[in-house]
Amino acid sequence: MLIDQFDRDHLWHPYSALGSPVPVLKVARADGVLLQLDDGTQLIDGMASWWCAIHGYNHPQLNQAVVEQLGRMSHVMFGGLTHEPAIALGKQLLQIVPKGLDAIFYADSGSVSVEVALKMAVQYQVARGKPGKSNIATTRSGYHGDTWNAMSVCDPVTGMHGLFGASLPSRCFVPAPQTRFGDDWDPADIAPVAQLFAERADQLAAFIIEPVVQGAGGMRFYHPQYLRELVALCRTHDVLLICDEIATGFGRSGRLFGCEHAGISPDILCIGKALTGGYMTLAATLCTREVADVIASAAPGVFMHGPTFMANPLACAVALASVQLLLAQDWQGRVAAIEGQLEQGLAPARVLPQVADVRVLGAIGVIELKAGLRLERIQQRMLEHGIWIRPFGRLVYVMPPFVIDDAQLQQLCAGMVALVASLQDEDMRA
Ligand code: PMP
Repeated sequence: MLIDQFDRDHLWHPYSALGSPVPVLKVARADGVLLQLDDGTQLIDGMASWWCAIHGYNHPQLNQAVVEQLGRMSHVMFGGLTHEPAIALGKQLLQIVPKGLDAIFYADSGSVSVEVALKMAVQYQVARGKPGKSNIATTRSGYHGDTWNAMSVCDPVTGMHGLFGASLPSRCFVPAPQTRFGDDWDPADIAPVAQLFAERADQLAAFIIEPVVQGAGGMRFYHPQYLRELVALCRTHDVLLICDEIATGFGRSGRLFGCEHAGISPDILCIGKALTGGYMTLAATLCTREVADVIASAAPGVFMHGPTFMANPLACAVALASVQLLLAQDWQGRVAAIEGQLEQGLAPARVLPQVADVRVLGAIGVIELKAGLRLERIQQRMLEHGIWIRPFGRLVYVMPPFVIDDAQLQQLCAGMVALVASLQDEDMRA
């Protein structure tokens, strides 16, 4: 196994400890759907680098966008200055996001865009003379990032609220949506939101939710009617709706944005991840003209946030190229084809004794196990199957680059199923 001693001793990796027993693999380069490790091993990437690399790696058009922009300027501050990449990307985004969104705040990561969305919602309520509407509501099983306020609206269990305890702001949680995507809608599903709003809407600035797909909080797909009912309740009770499309945006669920499954538009939208095709870190928080105008209408008359790398020109340039590349192709046909193949390829897992559920939506395929698995026990087997996946908890899942070809996807699915079939008691967490 390729272990770099310096890395092991000194570099922190996501959700890990220094000297972790789960080795990290050293990648030498990445092309298309393939990750090439230092020793030449090639792995089919099932993760698209955590939802981002929709066009695959080392894409000539995206490379070109970066190189061209690099020759002009890699960065200038956005305070008091602007530039064409930010403007051109903004124009493009406003054409494709759910209707009504009209103002864009560029942020440097998904978590930051969530922080910005929460601040926007609170500042909006303050500006309207309703400072008491300062808390945030959300569902269980959600995930919105790892910064302080983003973490406060993550699922309390998987979001580690226990660990950070009283130092986290206390939010209002309702149960996770229960009606699955594709099942008959159960009106009882939305009742906890109606009840919460009836009791506490005067304390709530906003409700934040991931549309249709709850990602890192459980890879759950829920009924779009939940969102329609939620919008109606938000309007009735004067609570802003924030949709976090950081994972679902740009085609992943089969629609350009998850909101489109329900035909709804939020007051505030967060996007990130696939925005740059996985090339650079960039996110954005969009809001309606009304939210922006209200914030501007009351003291201090400005929105109080301004990251150093806001609207980084390199990131904006590659984001524009990535969005245009997506829109120029039959991405919907491609995602539908991936969906069909994932359905077929993962179906054999349904009968395995280790498996609780198999579900697919768009270019997302999930095998949910009956027990959590121990990553360190399966990494070698993953290499033997020539695939790269990163299961967490009870979830073995993929969201590959859209450019994955049929044979690669078949190998990915077969590898996942074989790996799950090989799991023994000692591979699972107690
Ligand atoms: N929201 C959602 C729905 C996400 O999936 C993520 C990242 N997994 C985030 C927010 C946080 O984004 P970032 O990691 O870029 O801070």
